[in-house]
Amino acid sequence: REGRRPLIAGNWKMNLTHLEAIGLVQKLAFSLKEPELEAAEVVVLPPFTALRSVQTLVTGDKLEVGYGAQDLSAHDSGAYTGEVSGAMLAALACRYVVVGHSERRALHGEDDAVVASKVQAALRHGLVPILCVGEGLDVRRAGTHVSHCTTQLDAALEGLTAEQLLAPGDGAGSGGAGSGGGVVIAYEPVWAIGTGEVATPEDAQEVCGAIRSRLAERFGPEAAAVVRILYGGSVKAANTVGILAGPDVDGALVGGASLDADEFVQICRTAA
Ligand code: PEP
Repeated sequence: REGRRPLIAGNWKMNLTHLEAIGLVQKLAFSLKEPELEAAEVVVLPPFTALRSVQTLVTGDKLEVGYGAQDLSAHDSGAYTGEVSGAMLAALACRYVVVGHSERRALHGEDDAVVASKVQAALRHGLVPILCVGEGLDVRRAGTHVSHCTTQLDAALEGLTAEQLLAPGDGAGSGGAGSGGGVVIAYEPVWAIGTGEVATPEDAQEVCGAIRSRLAERFGPEAAAVVRILYGGSVKAANTVGILAGPDVDGALVGGASLDADEFVQICRTAA
């Protein structure tokens, strides 16, 4: 993996009140202190309402766990009722923010232009966007999944410079980051998200490899070699070894399984 530190990020989606979130982080905390886990970077992505509680726990207990949000506004402030800005997330010392998750694209009408402006909003505030791309079942059946994902990638990174791709987010260090550049990409085939149907290791490597090649064309091979590319879609402890075997698969974005402390820690151990 050429020195890229594996990243395991738990997307809690719309689950857990802030009180429940405290319980889950406390359960994770014990295991996350295991020295053998240090090889991997572990991140949790709670709902907005739990971020402050997670920040307090992580900082107070000096936990080696990063955290971030699941979305942000493309705007920095103003009359956008219900939205949360990158500045607000940076003030909570978030390091990461998910951008362009397939659920946002499908359920909230986020198109490529919106996704691109959210990537820029994240970078303006020193947050590392975890940019999600991925094809639906129809595209997979048509065999055009690779070009579908690289087209989404191109659109989302429109106007990005190589420096932005590489600059580590300065979201005030919610623990354990450092390497891996200013943008993370997650390949998440929509047909594998929350379905129990996991891509094969070959499927994951095919698209993650194509994403790295595309980054190399646009930003140069050295920049592309630093960027971490994750796979997401029904990752569990039992399939992590296979998924992470691909040389271009640098970690996982984990949905459902990240809500179970034992399962999530097992995934992190496997990645470390
Ligand atoms: C996700 O929401 O990013 C995801 C990959 O979900 P799951 O692991 O539940 O498929």
